[in-house]
Parts: sequence; C-alpha cells; structure tokens
Amino acid sequence: MALRSAHELAGQLAKGAVTSEELVRRSLAHIKATEPRLNAFVTVMEEQALAAARESDKRRAAGQTLSPLDGIPVAIKDNMNTEGVRTTCSSRMLEQFVPPFSSTAVRKLQDAGLVVVGKTNLDEFAMGSSTENSAFGRSANPWDTDRVPGGSSGGSAVAVAGGQVPLALGSDTGGSIRQPASLCGIVGLKPTYGRVSRYGLVAFASSLDQIGPMTVDVEDAALLLGTVAGHDPLDSTSADVPVPDYAASLRSFDWKGRRVARPKEFFTGEGLDPEVARCADAFLEKLASLGAEIVDVSMPHLKYSISTFYIVATAEASSNLARYDGAQYGFRAAGTKNIIEMFSRTRAQGFGPEIKRRVMMGTHVLSAGYYDAYYNKAQKVRTLIKRDYDRALEKADLVAAPTSPFPAFLAGSRMDDPLAMYLCDVFTISLNLAGYCGLSLPSGFTEGGLPIGMQLMAGAFEEEKLLGAAWQLEQALGVAGSRAPEIAGASA
Ligand code: GLN
Repeated sequence: MALRSAHELAGQLAKGAVTSEELVRRSLAHIKATEPRLNAFVTVMEEQALAAARESDKRRAAGQTLSPLDGIPVAIKDNMNTEGVRTTCSSRMLEQFVPPFSSTAVRKLQDAGLVVVGKTNLDEFAMGSSTENSAFGRSANPWDTDRVPGGSSGGSAVAVAGGQVPLALGSDTGGSIRQPASLCGIVGLKPTYGRVSRYGLVAFASSLDQIGPMTVDVEDAALLLGTVAGHDPLDSTSADVPVPDYAASLRSFDWKGRRVARPKEFFTGEGLDPEVARCADAFLEKLASLGAEIVDVSMPHLKYSISTFYIVATAEASSNLARYDGAQYGFRAAGTKNIIEMFSRTRAQGFGPEIKRRVMMGTHVLSAGYYDAYYNKAQKVRTLIKRDYDRALEKADLVAAPTSPFPAFLAGSRMDDPLAMYLCDVFTISLNLAGYCGLSLPSGFTEGGLPIGMQLMAGAFEEEKLLGAAWQLEQALGVAGSRAPEIAGASA
C-alpha cells in the first residue's frame, strides 16, 4: 500500500472508490512483503482485521459509518492491551500474555470503526530509544534498514513510514513517540498528560506516560487524536476537558503575530549534529517568513532533564514492574523450589538487561537512605523544569526545538553505552516532566537522505493550537508525506 494519508483514504472510502476490505488486504500484503526487512510488527491480526473490515463495509453500505475514519487500518504499539490478542511489551515476560480487556484508546478506535491490523514492536516495556531492546528482534528504519527507527515506539513509526498502515498509536514517556517519528520522517504527537486515557496501557512511568498518534501528516494526527482523546472514568488521571474538533480547526490558525520561543539550551551544545542544527535554523526562518516572531529565551533547568527523568521514571518503573513475578502475569520460571526462588528466577529469565538496570536504579533511588537525596530532589527539579516551560510560554505561544540531536543512527552503535542511548531524548524528555504537549514535524533531510524532525511544544490542553500551527507550517515546508525510498519499490 502506498504511503497515503488516512484522510485521503477516508475520502476514497466515502466515494465508494475502495472498500475497507481492499484497504486492509493491501495493508496486509504490504506488511507481508516488507516485514522481512522492517520487522515492525510483533503480531499481525490478519483474520480479525479482515472480519472488522467487512463489518465496516457493511455499515457503510447501510449508511451507518461510525466516524470519518471508519474502515481505515491502524497499528497499535504492543504495550496497549487488546482483548484476546497477545500484548507482549516486546518482553519474554509477556510473550504469551493475552489480556482479557482492551485499553480505552484501542476500544475508542474500534468504536469509531477503525480496523486494528496488528501490534507493533517496541523497546521492552517502552524503555529505550532505538527499538533494539526487543525480545523479538530490532525494527529497521525504512529510509535505511541498517539504521534504527528510534524508539521506543519504533515499530509504529516504521509501520507508518514504511507504508504498511496509514496510522498508528504510540506511547511517549520521555520522547518515544516524537523521537522515532523524527527519525522516520513522520508526524508524532505527545498529548498533554491526561488528554488520552492510560487505562490498559502497560505502565512504565505512570506520571509521564501518554498515548498519542503517529501519522503521515498533521491532519491525520488531528483526526486520530480526536478519536482517542477524552475523559475516562477508568483512568483517574485522565482530564475532564472537552475534546475540540481538532481536524476542523486546523486551517484557522494564523502564524502572523505569533511568538515562538527559541530556548538557547535546545539550539546549542556539542551533541547537536550540524545537519540538524542547519535544519533547525531553516525551520525558524520558515516560521519567521510566515509572520511569526522568534523570541530568544533561556530555560536554565533543562540541563537537569535527563538526570531528573532517570530518577523519576526508574522509581516509578521499579514499582510498576514489581507485578511481574510469575505469580499472576505471563512468564514463570520452571522448576523452582520456593516462592522467593520463583520470583527471582522469573525476573532473571523474563526481563532483558535494560529492564533489570532500570529496576535496580529505581529501587536504589527509592531506598530509605537515598530517597531524599535522589527521589525527593528530582521531584523538586521537575517543578523547576515545568516552571521554565511556564515562563517561556508566558513570552510565547509555542516553543520550538529539534526533536532529536541527530538523525537515525546505525543499529548496534549505541547498544553498549546506556548513557549514549539516554542522550537521544535530551530534547524531548523535559516536556514529559512538565506534562505539556508537543509534536514532531518532518522538516528536512540530511545530505545522505535521512529525515530530520523539528518539535513544536505548547501548554496544557493546547493541542488545537499546536496542530493548527503545525498544519500551516507543514504546508509551507512541504516535507511531510515523503516516501521512504528503501520500501517504495516493494509496494503491493
Ligand atoms: N528513551 C526513554 C527511555 O528509555 C523514553 C522512553 C519512552 O518515552 N517510553 O526511558
């Protein structure tokens, strides 16, 4: 299937030019043709998808479509529960786990008539930035299969960038939607904390996790966010804030007279690749040419983002992952003599090395002797980081930054150096600590033809403004929707 946006496909469905069953068959055929190279999926749901597509076609014939996206194929990151379909988190621990219920986000997609075609690969339990930490092998970047797609929602990014599906859901705890979107040349949106229900999303760091759209263009991100957003009584942290018609208001945003903050901490530094830096300058120039005013600001606490995140997130992860002990969920080590041995062997065999590192760090920062020095202090720094955003957003409507300090890197090049991997998120992680929303927009290419994404960020529940701003810019940049060349020839 060609890399076409969902809104175009929806138009064809509405005209009767194509059926949902045809779209799903094309998607499944393209998945089959490209998976040997891409490995975007952990589970492909061929039969369920075809059955759901036929239901959609029946509804359409009866004039009873459920939403503008009824009949459109979608892929789901494999850390969102899907009733009756295994949900692995790309971990041996959950390799055979079949949940008895669906996450709210998935249920909302199905209630809107979308067709789930499969579950995508990720870094185990969403910990990582390259989709190499997976019990099911690494996913490959469709622009250059020797390179990583980013992570942890790498499978979802690959599925969209590789033209396997037009839409996917990812989750973003420290950058896991935006960074792979940037490395794969697609749009990725991390909504405000509380905008999308986390019910049924397997928890990594509960105060940071958010589900969001990964799409070919901004209009699709607006449509997909509108479908999954909203209050959910099953998630006490989901916000009771009305969901605007994001797609309808895209065209009414005007950049003229808008102010964009340019935090110097995001645009300087040794780690910033020169080609990304050039793209960032061109991005700001484009904004100025649309009538925006660029405001220089400083966000002095951003330099503590990585350390703060790796205290808060590991603390929460060590608590959330305590449930995987062989007693209730998933894998249990065989032949153990007593319950302590069962717990420890189950964890030793079921978790990969990065998970063990995180659980140990998290347990350490929460332990009685170190709690004040680490966890408590990190919570205070988190507040300071949020205040940096509040100050920048007092002076400006939006904040701009590169999404990733570098384009897609070679597989294997960062796996032996955890810190080098953690630094992939240096521009994305602070937004999760603040709880606000941000979007990565395809903004240019390296000389070698790798995509580069730039980020726009806004305050709490300002997704409508964020999407409108990104849509206008997308028209001016003309980069979104570009096809990954590696995969173009394999189109079914
Ligand atoms: N890369 C970060 C980590 O490994 C963030 C991952 C995420 O957003 N899920 O924890």
